[in-house]
Amino acid sequence: MRAQPKASHYINGDFAEDTQGAGLDVIYPATAERIAQLHLATPNVVELAVESARAAQASWARVKPMERGRILRKAADILRTRNEELARLETLDTGKAIQETLVADPASAADALEFFGCAIAAHNGDHIELGGPFGYTRREPLGVCVGIGAWNYPIQIAAWKAAPALATGNAMVFKPSENTPLSALALAEILTEAGLPGGLFNVVQGAGEVGAQLVGHPAVAKVSLTGSVATGKKVMALASSQMKHGTMELGGKSPIVIFDDADLENAVGGAMLGNFYSTGQICSNGTRVFLQKGIYDRFLDRLSERTRAIRLGDPLDPDTHLGPLVSAEQRERVLSYITLGQEEGAHLHLGGGAPSLQGFEKGFFVEPTIFTEVRDDMRIAREEIFGPVMCVLSFDTEEEAIARANDTEFGLAAGVFTRDMARAHRVVGQLQAGSCWINAYNLTPVELPFGGFKSSGIGRENALAALDHYSQIKAVYVETGNVESPY
Ligand code: NDP
Repeated sequence: MRAQPKASHYINGDFAEDTQGAGLDVIYPATAERIAQLHLATPNVVELAVESARAAQASWARVKPMERGRILRKAADILRTRNEELARLETLDTGKAIQETLVADPASAADALEFFGCAIAAHNGDHIELGGPFGYTRREPLGVCVGIGAWNYPIQIAAWKAAPALATGNAMVFKPSENTPLSALALAEILTEAGLPGGLFNVVQGAGEVGAQLVGHPAVAKVSLTGSVATGKKVMALASSQMKHGTMELGGKSPIVIFDDADLENAVGGAMLGNFYSTGQICSNGTRVFLQKGIYDRFLDRLSERTRAIRLGDPLDPDTHLGPLVSAEQRERVLSYITLGQEEGAHLHLGGGAPSLQGFEKGFFVEPTIFTEVRDDMRIAREEIFGPVMCVLSFDTEEEAIARANDTEFGLAAGVFTRDMARAHRVVGQLQAGSCWINAYNLTPVELPFGGFKSSGIGRENALAALDHYSQIKAVYVETGNVESPY
């Protein structure tokens, strides 16, 4: 199994290499075999990438927005044409099941490029009447933006950042997670093929150190990070010490509140999607499932039945539901939380093992896991695990569910399942979360803004909101009479 790209980095419209950089092995998580070898960026590579972005950005900002949008829309078309090939690459890089990557990963990247490619021509400033004189506002790009990605949705994260940045006339230097370095390079190549001038979307490989070099670079105006809260705090601190803009898409421990009157199959399906999709490696996962007491037993029976039917295995087999976790390290982390949950007194209701699957004995698999008898103060109910581990809790009243759902430092997402729509809207209105779903979970269409309350983040991705976060407003006052001066 090989997925070797032409070179490690992508700078100024072409692949670039610097073999002085330390080696980076790209591992297929299902077999632990090496599928590519890259080099981490040296300071020289970082400098070249930022400089090529800086040099390209000024003329890109002068390109008519409609024309910028046309290039992004063409890139969306190319992504869709190559969906299968890109989905396979994403599966090799992340280990996620091909049945997911075929519908979710390049597809959502294409949606972002199409949405921002269409929206930008209508994203204008305002005209303000001042009773004779008047004013207007211009939306101007920020300059060079840095994007830093997590490993769960590599091409989606790259496109969610690149599309609004490029649409608004910025250039971007993107650093993927060192666990999943491949698909951002494919996106860069596609943008070039669509007609994007060199230097506007560069990719450099590296770990946190390279990320920090990029954030601290004096030519960089903004950073958009997708990652953990701990990394977000560091990145935001560095960016704000230099008065740079920041968008932080961070972690969560989101609640799903299921009332007695909910449609049972939909609620079970939503909770499973919100815990097991992408082997649980989704920031917005609803890992605290609050069940009202009247539905508890029926829900748990059906949840157990449907969870036992989940097929773990070869990620490239279209019948496989769940692939492995992204790395051996992540598997250790998830397993240590499973041990901790038992030590804390929660009941391991289902799963919890790290199976050795035939032909995939070295893969980083963890069974879908359900804990019951979970208390709000347990660490498994308070900390982000980022694996297929669901905590089931029970409640009596609406007020109680809201208070307990909000009792967390995080605020990324929340879900409510009920047939009572008045209650659904009332509850959602009180949940402290940036994305809420009523009778659904984890759907993130590009038309809706995405981002967190509280420690889960700052700023928004997607929707028109993202265009505001990649531009700055210039106010222009226009005098139509004489200057009134006492001097
Ligand atoms: P990390 O926070 O460990 O890393 C995120 C990215 O930041 C990686 O590319 C990492 O590099 C880089 N990085 C690490 N330290 C620094 C630093 N000091 N300066 C600059 N960059 C740095 O997150 P994971 O990759 O482990 O991803 C999982 C986390 O991401 C979870 O908490 C999850 O909830 C969150 N996430 C949030 C999403 C959202 O939209 N809100 C979506 C997806 C995930 P490297 O890892 O290569 O060393």
